[in-house]
Amino acid sequence: MKLLDLLFPKKRKRRIIKKTTPITKNKTEIELLRKQAKEYLPNRVKELASSHKFKYNSLRIKNVKTIWGSCSNKNNINLNLNLMKLKPELIDYVILHELCHTIEKNHSQKFWNLLEKHLPDAKKLRKELKKTRF
Ligand SMILES: [Zn+2]
Repeated sequence: MKLLDLLFPKKRKRRIIKKTTPITKNKTEIELLRKQAKEYLPNRVKELASSHKFKYNSLRIKNVKTIWGSCSNKNNINLNLNLMKLKPELIDYVILHELCHTIEKNHSQKFWNLLEKHLPDAKKLRKELKKTRF
């Protein structure tokens, strides 16, 4: 009995710490990523769009779980702030991928040809990105 009494509070304490610590850390991490993303991505998208002669409408930075980026029919580009965890080549891959969608909306062969024209390493980078977890 005494032993259980001693163990129980310890267990509860440990559980509370485990529950709260990662949440706080996560929030800070997301805020930091958002700050970095807002400093880096709009400029990089502008640079790549102008050097590769693409036109897009707007850029939004979002915290999403499933996709790195998207491009709407109106050429509004969304990028995931978790991109900031990746190396610059992979970020450029996602940006150029979305910029190519301003011309080719689907993933047809035409799209992949266009992407490879603008980014010769596209296939290799795509494989690497697929292996990367969020
Ligand atoms: Zn795509």
